[in-house]
Amino acid sequence: MLDLSGKHAFVTGIANNRSIAWGIAQQLHRAGAEIGVSYLPDDKGRFEKKVRELTEPLHPTLVLPGDVQDDAQVDALFNTVKEKWGKLDILIHCLAFADKSGLTGNYTDIPKEAFSQAMEISTYSLGRLARGAKPLMTNGGSIITLTYFGGVKVIPNYNLMGVAKAGLEMTVRYLAAELGPQNIRVNGISAGPIRTLASSAVGGILDMIHNVEEVAPLKRTVTQTEVGNTAAFLASDLSSGITGQIIYVDSGYEIMGMYN
Ligand code: NAD
Repeated sequence: MLDLSGKHAFVTGIANNRSIAWGIAQQLHRAGAEIGVSYLPDDKGRFEKKVRELTEPLHPTLVLPGDVQDDAQVDALFNTVKEKWGKLDILIHCLAFADKSGLTGNYTDIPKEAFSQAMEISTYSLGRLARGAKPLMTNGGSIITLTYFGGVKVIPNYNLMGVAKAGLEMTVRYLAAELGPQNIRVNGISAGPIRTLASSAVGGILDMIHNVEEVAPLKRTVTQTEVGNTAAFLASDLSSGITGQIIYVDSGYEIMGMYN
């Protein structure tokens, strides 16, 4: 049975009720996990307010600022997890960012600053958060990140994020190899396109969604809940033999060589 009771799960990347991280947090809570969440702080405190209101039904015992570009904030986050929870079992890395200049047009036009920023937030951050989680996962643990097929094959306009996701998927494997002896598993979920704040920045996201509806074996896109269910499985002991893998939750789109 999928049972996460007694487990502490920290979920990053909730911005609003469309966020994949929100779908994941709900399913982890449903399976019995105690939830903590982070938000990206802004001057007016809007994201914090939104995240606090949205997650209230899950009774999160931690709601913390977590800008992954701010080392002091990341350190403070894990210090608080240690202080309040004592240990950590599940870490969800569900965040990414690339400037618009990297998500449309020609790859050859991507500015260096946009490249560095996207790689820092979307790729480096997985290892950075894993560094914080490692000493707290004293009974083993599960780290899960979110990726997309555009990190494996060329998808129009996904450009910079495709390169960031390729790096992210390789990070999953290096982390899995390093942390496996501590029984910390690291896996990625490659989700099909879903309309969210982040995905709306990718040029032609609606075309990507329509293509999935036409081509994928299930003839539809996936939901945040379906991604959340897979995350709950990967977080649980039911997946105890799985690490370093990228699991596709994409209605089967990835297998369709001829039409992609
Ligand atoms: P979203 O906009 O709801 O979530 C993106 C999150 O990243 C937001 O919560 C935002 O606050 C956070 N973020 C951005 N910069 C940050 C920073 N510096 N520090 C901390 N957090 C920061 O969009 P989403 O689609 O739910 O994206 C979540 C993850 O899922 C991303 O990694 C995305 O690439 C991945 N993904 C999305 C899709 C899709 O079609 N929506 C498909 C596959 C994978």
